[in-house]
Parts: sequence; C-alpha cells; structure tokens
Amino acid sequence: MIRVLIWNEFVHERKTPEVAAIYPNGIHNAIKDGLVELLGETVEIRTATLDQPEHGLTDDALDQTDVLLWWGHLAHDQVADAIVERVQGRVLAGMGLIGLHSAHAAKIFQRLMGTGCMLRWREASEREKVWVVDPSHAIAAGIDNEHFEIPQAEMYGEFFDIPQPDELIFISWFEGGEVFRSGCTWRRGKGKVFYFRPGHETYPIYHQLEIKRVLANAVQWATPSGSEYFGEAREC
Ligand code: ZN
Repeated sequence: MIRVLIWNEFVHERKTPEVAAIYPNGIHNAIKDGLVELLGETVEIRTATLDQPEHGLTDDALDQTDVLLWWGHLAHDQVADAIVERVQGRVLAGMGLIGLHSAHAAKIFQRLMGTGCMLRWREASEREKVWVVDPSHAIAAGIDNEHFEIPQAEMYGEFFDIPQPDELIFISWFEGGEVFRSGCTWRRGKGKVFYFRPGHETYPIYHQLEIKRVLANAVQWATPSGSEYFGEAREC
C-alpha cells in the first residue's frame, strides 16, 4: 500500500469559473481520481490544501505519506517557510516528491533544486507533443508510442533553470517551435523527486489518460524503497 498525499493550493478553482468547470472538485481530486482509477487498492490517497492548518502538511499527515504530489501557481509565496523546511526534511529522509506543472516555482521545488527553476512560457492553447526519450524508465511504462499529444497546452520553453536531471524521461515540443525538459528526476538525500510539466489549470489535462498513467507510474517510482526510511521527522 502506497500512501499518497496530493497537495493543491486550491486557489484557481475557487476564483475562476473557467477552471472550476474543468475541475469542479479541485485539481487535487481530479488527480486523486486518476490514481484510484489506475492503481486501485494499491494506494491510499489523501489530499491537503493551502488553507488548512499548516497547509495540511502537519507532522501527522507527513508521517502517513510515502509520496507527496504538489500543485501550486498563484500562492507559492503564501506557503510558510517552516512548512517548506519540514517537507524538505521529509524528502531528504526518503519521502517521494512529484512537482506538477507550475510547481517549478514552488518554494519546496526551488529549495530542493537549489536553482531559480524559471523558464519561458506562453499561454496560447498550443498543441504539445510529449516525446518519450527514456522508454525503459518505469515512469514511461504503458506509454506505448514514441510520443503522446496534448491538444491544448500552455507552452513552457527552455531555458529551464534546473540542475542537470539525473534522468530525463520526457521532452515536449510545442507548435511555436520551443522544446522543454518535461519529465525529469533527481535524488535528494534518500528521496526521489520527479517533475512533470503538463497540467495547466485552464485545460483538462489531468483528465487525459496518458497523464494519469505517468502520474500513477511516478507515484510507484517515487515510493521509498530499499534502505530508505522516512518514518521520523527530521528537520533540516
Ligand atoms: Zn500553467
């Protein structure tokens, strides 16, 4: 049983009717539905949001978390530094972290990367081709073609200011000609980190099967394994 916690700032869905129409129960619950659909009873999934006490990321909640998924965009600055420190400590102690889309600019992601993590972007409903560049990787399992397409996407382009990934699994191409390292992994301490680019709030990306598949694979990959142990809180 993999214990998953899906964190969402949960701001767009409550402010913007266009987003609420696509994700009426919030992006976190759409992601949860996809994981349940593909992983069934092998996962135990909870969600947490910014407005909860300690953003829902209490020591108790993290004690019950093997893999944390993170979606944020408008409210990165509202995440308390003490909580970022706590989550970083958990990752270093072995908890998996999956950064989603605009989480490239989340405090926790920047902290774990140690670089600016910025990129170029354009919101113009462009077609995206997500190319599989590491077909043997566990996170690409079940993606049977050389690439899959997202009909409408926000463009993210290089230069993406990240440290050289340990593994590069997906590269995106956009109609405007840009390319982007869309699926990257790193090890931080005993923890595994995966960044996955797709997921802009105004497009139904988390309802797409390939996206659900990648996230389900990523949850399995990021689960602590071997000698990794994260059962006790360790602050940095
Ligand atoms: Zn976006």
